[in-house]
Amino acid sequence: MNDVTPKTRRLLYIDSSEFMQRLVRERLAEDHIEVLSAFSGAEGVSMARLQQPEVILIDSELTDMEGMECLTELKKDSETSEILVIYSSTSDEPYERVRGFDLGAHDFVLRPFEFNELRARLTGAFRLQHLVQMLSQRAQLDGLTGLWNRAYFNTRLAAEYAEARRHHRTISLIMADVDKFKSINDRYGHPFGDTVLIQFAALLSGGRASDVACRYGGEEFAVILPGTSIDEAHEVAERIRLGLAALCWTKQHDLVATSSFGVASSDSLAQSGVWGELVECADAALYAAKGRGRNQVVSAPGLSFRQAS
Ligand code: GH3
Ligand code: MG
Ligand code: MG
Repeated sequence: MNDVTPKTRRLLYIDSSEFMQRLVRERLAEDHIEVLSAFSGAEGVSMARLQQPEVILIDSELTDMEGMECLTELKKDSETSEILVIYSSTSDEPYERVRGFDLGAHDFVLRPFEFNELRARLTGAFRLQHLVQMLSQRAQLDGLTGLWNRAYFNTRLAAEYAEARRHHRTISLIMADVDKFKSINDRYGHPFGDTVLIQFAALLSGGRASDVACRYGGEEFAVILPGTSIDEAHEVAERIRLGLAALCWTKQHDLVATSSFGVASSDSLAQSGVWGELVECADAALYAAKGRGRNQVVSAPGLSFRQAS
């Protein structure tokens, strides 16, 4: 369970008292918790949105609003609603705690703080937040290859495409498909087919850190390449194509596994284009690569291609 200790431990502390802010910061310094200070509810809500801390600690009495109001604000905003909130109050009344839990608080801690207790509650909250993040990330990974899955691909491409449009940057997309994969399965067995997919996935994810390799489905894959021109993406695909064909298989000596690629870029789409068009273009190019005899890379929209070697 070692890896459940989160690497980033940022606490947003919302409290209007300068004294308390200083005290908490000093007492938590040794625990490697970075304390971000907000002195009012409004400041707390906007910092939470901007900084996305792992955990928030709110005091019940703020200068501009009640702690409960601040908690409500955080929980109704989709950008902050998933952040764990610990509510603190000088009142030990059960109804106040229950109200906090009803509004979405994760935990409650009494003031004045008993720092060992506060530390223990924070450690639990950081750990839980980390586990939640890990689980949601795992749900977006493909079990066989470890690449991102189709659902993640859709979300990520939409986000990267919008970002590229906003900053007038080029984004390219590679769609890749193993050739005659059904016959590899038929001839060498399904488990060996899986090995081919794992090796191909490793080649697809061996590029720049900013590239995003995904399993699109079956033996079809996609790589999102932010800030990459169509010619550069074509070169990347060509390297992967050559990489797969060059692999030697321990028992299947006679096998040369090949792959086909379709490449498209935002430059060749209309300004009004949507990310779905990028997929359609890359898919059409992949289809053309298959039609032209497989084992090659085709770029859209000119569908220029370089002959397989
Ligand atoms: P093409 O060159 O036109 O792409 O032909 P193909 O045989 O690769 O394409 P086809 O769509 O006919 O077959 C794809 C095969 O991929 C069929 C399916 O059983 C196999 N497949 C899909 N997912 C997996 C998997 O996870 N593991 C294995 N071993 N095979 C898979
Ligand atoms: Mg195929
Ligand atoms: Mg296919």
